Amino acid sequence: MKLSNYYIPTLREVPADAEIASHQLLLRAGMIRKSATGIYTYLPLGYRVIRKIEQIVREEMDRAGSLEILMSALQPKEIWEDSGRWSIFGPEMFKLKDRNDREYCLGPTAEEYFTSLIKDEVKSYKQLPLNIYQIQTKYRDEKRPRFGLNRAREFSMKDAYSFDTSPETMEVAYQKMYDAYVKIFDRMGLDYRIVLGDSGAMGGSTSHEFIALSETGEGVICYTENGTYGATDESARVYYDLPEAQEVKDLEKVDTPNVTTIEEVSQFLGQEEKRCAKAVDYMLDGKPAFIFIPGDRELNETKLAAFTGIPEHAIEKMEDDQIKACGSYPGFTGPVGLKDVRIIVDKSLTQIQNLVAGGNEKDKHYVNVNYGRDFEGEIAEDLLMVREGDKTEDGETLLFRRGIEVGNIFQLGTKYSESLHATYLDENGKEQFFHMGSYGVGVTRSVTAVIEQNHDDKGIVWPLNLAPYQAIVIIVQTKNEDQVELGEKIYDRLEKAGVEVLLDDRKERPGVKFNDRDLIGIPLRITVGKKAGEGLVEYSERKDMENTDLPVEEAIQKILDQVENMNK
Ligand code: ATP
Ligand code: MG
Repeated sequence: MKLSNYYIPTLREVPADAEIASHQLLLRAGMIRKSATGIYTYLPLGYRVIRKIEQIVREEMDRAGSLEILMSALQPKEIWEDSGRWSIFGPEMFKLKDRNDREYCLGPTAEEYFTSLIKDEVKSYKQLPLNIYQIQTKYRDEKRPRFGLNRAREFSMKDAYSFDTSPETMEVAYQKMYDAYVKIFDRMGLDYRIVLGDSGAMGGSTSHEFIALSETGEGVICYTENGTYGATDESARVYYDLPEAQEVKDLEKVDTPNVTTIEEVSQFLGQEEKRCAKAVDYMLDGKPAFIFIPGDRELNETKLAAFTGIPEHAIEKMEDDQIKACGSYPGFTGPVGLKDVRIIVDKSLTQIQNLVAGGNEKDKHYVNVNYGRDFEGEIAEDLLMVREGDKTEDGETLLFRRGIEVGNIFQLGTKYSESLHATYLDENGKEQFFHMGSYGVGVTRSVTAVIEQNHDDKGIVWPLNLAPYQAIVIIVQTKNEDQVELGEKIYDRLEKAGVEVLLDDRKERPGVKFNDRDLIGIPLRITVGKKAGEGLVEYSERKDMENTDLPVEEAIQKILDQVENMNK
């Protein structure tokens, strides 16, 4: 392609609302444009990259035996009602009505849709196992769309679904996808980790997340030095380090004027924070609940959602008057004497003696509170947010790193087949539910992960196999006929040899051309300049930015070799 005819609107300035490198560079390199909050247009260069990523995903899915289909982005409400997820997705779902008042959503994912398809099509065990996928636009009305393609409201996801006859064969299907994902993210050249994930809104049991390491990532992975453990911070199990056991003492109510935070309570009463019960006052789907955890910890809302079965979007902080209506007092909430209200207790508190807890009236606390004798509640095994330095079950220390979740695979079991009544007939002619798995790759999010890991202060440094074009020929002076002629000759040669090549024949200053090339990140460059008359050109790679003068043929050969090696 000749740049004189190309749509390549690069920007010199860093766009104001773009916070991270990938977002800034995608805008500056003229690869995407914002259409509305969290909604983007993919411009020619950007769309080429997206299609290359799609192609990698497609090839590896096909190789793993998955079959590509395409379902509509519009999905009928009924199937989501059947699974219960119409309300679970809540405000994150884009919902709409047709002219007859029938309701739909723009699909945020497609477990229900695929299940409803297979339910009517696959009747016999002889047609199983089956794995199907699509690469389709997804819609999520994210609470905080940001970082460009990283957390968009419209994005491209590859989603696959496996259908099996037993938990064992489902696990085989899952492992196949796991292996395919390793190939996919290896081919993208990403530095990533595979960790245990949270099954969250998907339901089901086991899940793994594929997380590209990046300081700008919104995800946190917890891992051990010896590599035996890896999980997201949302899902990592906390083995709480209990304070020393004590003799149980008598319950007492004491004055604690204006002492409300855990830190103040701990100092005022001279008690370690671990022994101060922290109250988290929430409305769970509109109903009040007090959750108690050790004072030195934070509550993990994902775990609370899993424990209560109430989606995170329906978990809200209580207002002061709601706290009072429950017979307590803001800042002084404790589990002693609270009646007719839901109390949830992290298990660790049942094992700590002589707790300090709010007195449910202004300026009062209880001391020497003990579970069983002074209060009771629903005991949750673990509601705590993990912290760096926590120990695993094996006593290994947890370390943290940030990253971008690019893929997520789930074992779903029969959750969706049961709720949508999707069955097949087994060898004995008996109806059975499908055992399912679901598997997502964030296609457009992967673009941001690749850029976060591959850029410098001048721009993007694409790996050769993902670059929008592999090579560029820059004509330094378009007024110089020798340069133009040689430039076009090299360009023709490369194009005929199957190289994806650009010719920068624009009537721009050389500086503009070089800057654009560095910004867009075209990996291989031939510059046709002053020495064109002598048959010499400059060859350079974006990775190291070193320039070498080479005879024309040698420079061309270098590019051909690189492109050929890429496909090996
Ligand atoms: P997150 O925790 O980041 O919100 P998720 O766990 O809700 O993501 P999944 O339901 O697992 O996302 O979707 C599968 C994949 O789709 C994710 O691994 C991610 O790569 C991609 N994805 C999810 N939400 C977005 C989004 N808002 N913008 C771009 N890609 C997304
Ligand atoms: Mg996920």
